[in-house]
This record gives sequence, structure tokens and C-alpha cells, in this order.
Amino acid sequence: MWNENDDVATLDPMTPEIGGGGPATHYPTASSRLMLDLLRLSRNSSVLRTSDSKSDALDGVIARPVLRSLLAALRLRDPATIQHVRRAAQFATGLARFIGWDGAALRRLEIASLLHDIGKIGVPDHVLFKPGPLNPAEEELFALQHNVGIDVLQACRVHQEVLDIINQSTPNYDNGQHGSKELHLGARILAIADAYDSLSHKQVYREAKTHTEILAILAGSAGTRFDGNLVSVMNRWIQAAGEPFSREPQEAPAANGAGFFQLAEEMQASSMCHIFSYLHTLESMYDGFYLVESDLKFRIWNTGMERLLGQPASKMLDQNWTSRQVEFADKQGRPFADSTHPLREVIKSGKAQTAHVQVRHLDGRWINVELMSVPLIDHDGSLQGVAEIFRDLSQDRRRRAEDKDLHKQATRDALTGVLNRGELERTLESLLSDFNRNSAPEPMSLIFLDVDNFKRINDTYLHLTGDQVLVGLAKLLQSETYSGEIIGRYGGEEFIVMCPSTDLKQAVVKAERLRRAIRDTALSTVKELKVTVSFGVTEVEQGDTLDDVFRRSDKALFTSKEKGRDRTTALSKREFLGGKAETVQAEAEPTYLLEGNFLACVTSDMIVLKFGSFVREQKARLVKTAQGHVVIRIGATFLPIWGSKEKHQPVDLEIKFGPPPADVPLPARQGVIERTYFQVRIKPCGWPPDVTTFQERARTTFRLLKTYFVADY
Ligand code: GH3
Ligand code: MG
Ligand code: MG
Repeated sequence: MWNENDDVATLDPMTPEIGGGGPATHYPTASSRLMLDLLRLSRNSSVLRTSDSKSDALDGVIARPVLRSLLAALRLRDPATIQHVRRAAQFATGLARFIGWDGAALRRLEIASLLHDIGKIGVPDHVLFKPGPLNPAEEELFALQHNVGIDVLQACRVHQEVLDIINQSTPNYDNGQHGSKELHLGARILAIADAYDSLSHKQVYREAKTHTEILAILAGSAGTRFDGNLVSVMNRWIQAAGEPFSREPQEAPAANGAGFFQLAEEMQASSMCHIFSYLHTLESMYDGFYLVESDLKFRIWNTGMERLLGQPASKMLDQNWTSRQVEFADKQGRPFADSTHPLREVIKSGKAQTAHVQVRHLDGRWINVELMSVPLIDHDGSLQGVAEIFRDLSQDRRRRAEDKDLHKQATRDALTGVLNRGELERTLESLLSDFNRNSAPEPMSLIFLDVDNFKRINDTYLHLTGDQVLVGLAKLLQSETYSGEIIGRYGGEEFIVMCPSTDLKQAVVKAERLRRAIRDTALSTVKELKVTVSFGVTEVEQGDTLDDVFRRSDKALFTSKEKGRDRTTALSKREFLGGKAETVQAEAEPTYLLEGNFLACVTSDMIVLKFGSFVREQKARLVKTAQGHVVIRIGATFLPIWGSKEKHQPVDLEIKFGPPPADVPLPARQGVIERTYFQVRIKPCGWPPDVTTFQERARTTFRLLKTYFVADY
């Protein structure tokens, strides 16, 4: 049975007829109809591409009618994307021509650019058109579009080099898979064209950028995300030839395609959309599939199969389906004879089957899979082929998938989707230890930012708007960084952007860019609400602990706040230790400290309880406890940043307590059996704006503590 022990059937809305128990007529299911369409697409594409007519086959890269119907489907689904891919193609080919490309290479790049976002056709509306940031599950769903695009393009018999260009132009979806292998130059050109075009056009969350701004962004990410040489070439090219496309909005996109399409074309496009969206579902639920035509040749071998069995499509397509190509065994490990394989039985009976079998990976491993074999039956009842769909049953893989879900939940901030504080700290710790182990590490800088007057935003426009601002801010940070930056939420309205391969100067430029972008963007639905953010920047130096880096960036941020907010301050370790910071410290020693003692009628067994409730009521934090000694932090307990409100000004109370020393006079009081003597030192955490502010805060805190313990004096 397809689903003995779990919920596979409920996961497969497209094939309700399958797996219902007992023999049933499986003809033709929605699933098999769509598979059949895909098979036809591949058959037609193959015929058209190998046809002699050069003009029809676009230099053998893809058949023209196939390209047309793919783009028609994309236009039907998402008109904005079709404009984007056209401009990207114009840009990529312009740049490639500038460096001397022509002929077939140029054609392949053009087609790769036009098709690089084709998988978006299959992305469900609620994800594709979601205005805010995607949550982790949606992100994963969105990432599938890449595989779906490649699946369809493979079916369309698109030239292998086009697939390589598309695959390698999006390193994000394919982390590390390319290893250190040199990326296809076409892929590097496309990556730049793609980024240039999205930056030069207005997005929901930001305005369009000027050429100079874009150049700065691309140059800032050169070497990591973009090819530095190409970026300079691009600049020369644009200086020589002007911008390659108009920034004016192009033809108004038609809502439903009416007026654009001939009816037949529209129907074709819509059936293409169905194929994509079916494949999207398939990709999200199963691990791989192939289609075999009635002549028993492989016509489709999807990216999932490539992963599952380690065999590339280029090797499998048009080969005969035999046990030499794919080795199967039953559950007990006995190899199938070709004649008893489920596929043969499906061909004989015309009915779908499900079996638990083993299949062999290229490296020799046997993998447990659930294999669903679906006959592809035409309207006239003739069998056109068989689809075999695989689900990897190995415990290992399942656990990995579950771990991944748990991992996501545990590492992401629920509101904004960026890394949560714990994960941020773990990631930074590990970066830092790599940095410190390396004798000549790449530079690395940390940007710390805090929304200005956020409390007022909450108070004036309600908490919900405050939340929207945080979500919008996180989205903006993510979409405005391109070089492998690590973004996390540190606390309430505090975020951290860790920038690899970035020195202090570059980090300041980056922070300033972010700052202006935030100022110019409506982050919430309240249009008149202008949000500003203050930044503190520091560069990591050899020997730094995470705490050192946080403290420096926090000090820099504090300076930004102090100087009037909406600005960036940089602080190097040298300045921190030798210059500015030291003068603060030097002045601070005698005055940034309040000492006081008091005597209270509290018994030693009650003291611990009293401290406990003091900490709770004051929303404070117990930093340290020892025999007769505690340190309590009151105020901003996340990071020591001095707010303007007293209760957000962080101070450490170091308290020693015990029996009163002999020289302390004990006032006579009726009924008192035991007294405790408290010695208190109050120190600021972070950097108070001036001594007076600190002392006011320290005095109030001291009084508070005394009152709490009902001191004698
Ligand atoms: P400054 O310019 O000095 O940074 O002032 P501020 O008002 O931004 O700073 P303060 O630290 O006084 O206020 C931070 C506020 O952020 C207080 C807290 O209620 C709010 N906050 C923390 N987390 C959230 C959240 O998840 N959503 C919303 N809406 N507010 C939050
Ligand atoms: Mg703030
Ligand atoms: Mg804050």
C-alpha cells in the first residue's frame, strides 16, 4: 500500500484516486493528465529542437515555439517578472557583447536570462505575491521554484549550457554544491544582470537605485557574490554605452492576459501553468520522478532523481529503461527481473501501483523507497507512458527533514524571520573563533542598529504598527545586503548585521546605505510614519571575544544616539582602548560609581527570597550570586544601552551582605533578633551620557533597594 504508516495520501491532493485500497480505475487522474502533458512537451521539444530549421530552433538552444509558450505562461502568471527577465537578458547580452561574445554562446546566455525565473510560474500565489517577508516554510516553498524550473527546462530539451548558467547564477539555492569549481562566466554575467535590474527598479519595500548606488552595492559584494572584474567591466560598459534599458515603466501588464494572447496561446500558457504548479507540488512532496515513454525510453529525469540516484539527466534521457540503467530490488533485497518490475505490470494492467522497493545509487548504496508507478493514458485510452515517482524512506533522510524543521523553529525569530538572538550568538561565536584561529583572516565587521524612539512609535501608533516596523526593517536589511551578511534580531528593536570580508570603512558605507534606505522607506502601513535608525559599527580584531565586539559596537551606537540619532558611528579597537573610550573610563572611575551601606532587619534565611522577588519585580537580572555576594543588573538587561527613560538605564548593583561588623552602631529596636549589613556599589553598564544622569539613576536605585529591605537607616 502507498501509505501503511503515515499520511502520504493526504499529502497528495493531485492523485486522490490512487492508494484508496483495492483495484480501482485510475484513468485518467489529474496527476496522470499533467504528467502526460509534460511528456508531450518533452516529445515536441525534442522533435522541434532537432529539426533542421535553424530559425525555429534558435541555434539549437531551444525550439522557438517552446520558448514562446514558456514566456507566455510566465506573463500570464506574473507580468512583473516577464519585464524583469527581458531587461536582464538585454543587460546580460549587452555586457557579454562588450567583452566580445557572439554567436551561439551569446544566444545561450540570452535564453538563460529569459528563463532564469521560469520556475516562479509554479509558486503558489500566497507565496509569490506575499508583500512581507516569507516565513521559513514559505521560503522553502519558494526555493523549490528553482528545481521546478530546471525540471521543465530539461523536459523542454533546453541546451545543457543554459541549465548550467541558470543553476550557477543563484548560489543561494545551491549552497556549496558547485564547490570551488569555477563558475560559468555566463552565470556570473547573469548574476550581475539580475541584481542590476532588480536594484534599478522600485520594489515594494524600497525605491529604485541610481547607477552609482548600484555600482557601489555590486562593488561592495565583489568577490563574494559577484565577480569583481566583471563589475568593473560593467561600469566601463555603461559609461561607454549608457544604461541598457529604460527605467520608465513598460507596457501596462494585463491582469489576465486578455488582449495579449490569441485564445489558443492563452490556453497553451494556462496548461503550461498547470504543469508548473503540479511539479511544484510534486517537488515539495516526493524525492524524484521520471517519465518513460511507451517505447521504454526515459523522457524526463528530474532534478530530484539526479539527487536521489546520483545520475545526471544528461546521462539518462533517451536511454532505454532497463535494469542496467536503474537497478531495483524488492524489500528483501532480491533484484527484480525486468519482466516482474512494477513498471511492466502497470503497462500490462493500465493501473497505478505502489510498492516498497529498493533502488541503487550510483555509489552502490541501496536506498529504501516507496515507488508509485502511474500509467499515462491518453483520451482515447491508449497508454502513452509511465511515470515513476519516488519517496525516499530511509530513516536518515526523514530525521534530517524533521531536524531541519525543528532547527528552523529554534533558530529564527518568530516575528521577523531573521536569526534569533541565540542562533546569532552561536553563529558569531563560531565566526569569531575561526577568525582568531586564522593567522591572516579576512576582515570582518559588525553593524549594530537600534530603532530611534521606538517606544514613541508603539505609544503613538499602537504595538501592531511597531511590529510592522520591525518586520519591514528585517525585510529591508535582508533585501539590501548581498554579500553573505548574517542578520539577526538581538533584542526588541535591535538588530545585528555581521559583514564578512568587510573592513571598518566598507562597513560604514554599508551602514550608511542601510540608514538612508530605512529613512526613505515606509516600513509600515502608516504612511506618515518616518522611522529612523542609529548605527554603531566596529571591525573585529585578533583576540576579540564576542563580548568585546558587542561592547565596541554598542558604544559606537550609543554615540550615535547621543549625537541626535539617525546616524552612524564607527569605533575601532584602537580608539576604544586608547582614545575616546579611555577618557570616558578615566573620568568615570571616581564619579561613575555610587557606594553606600545600610543595615536592615532581615534574617539570613529570608535574604535570598527577598533578592529573588526584588529581581522579579524590577524586571532585573541576577548576574552573579555567591555566598554573601550578589550582582544584580537593573535597566536594559539585553544590552547595556542607556535609554532616556530612567527605567531603561542599566546599572549593576554589587551587594555584599552579612552580619554587621563590630564598628557599626546598632540602633536599639524592640523585638529585632537579627540584623544584616549591606554594602552596595552601583556602577553603570554601558555609557551614561553624563555623570549627573548616572548619579540620579544610581541614587534612585539605591533608595529603592533600601526601601525594599526596610533599612534601619
Ligand atoms: P532610543 O531612540 O533611545 O533607542 O529610544 P527607544 O524608545 O527606541 O528605546 P527604548 O529602549 O526606550 O524602547 C524600546 C521599546 O521597544 C520598548 C519596548 O516596549 C519595545 N519593544 C520591544 N520588543 C518589541 C516588539 O516585539 N514589538 C513592539 N511593537 N515593540 C517592542
Ligand atoms: Mg530604540
Ligand atoms: Mg533599544
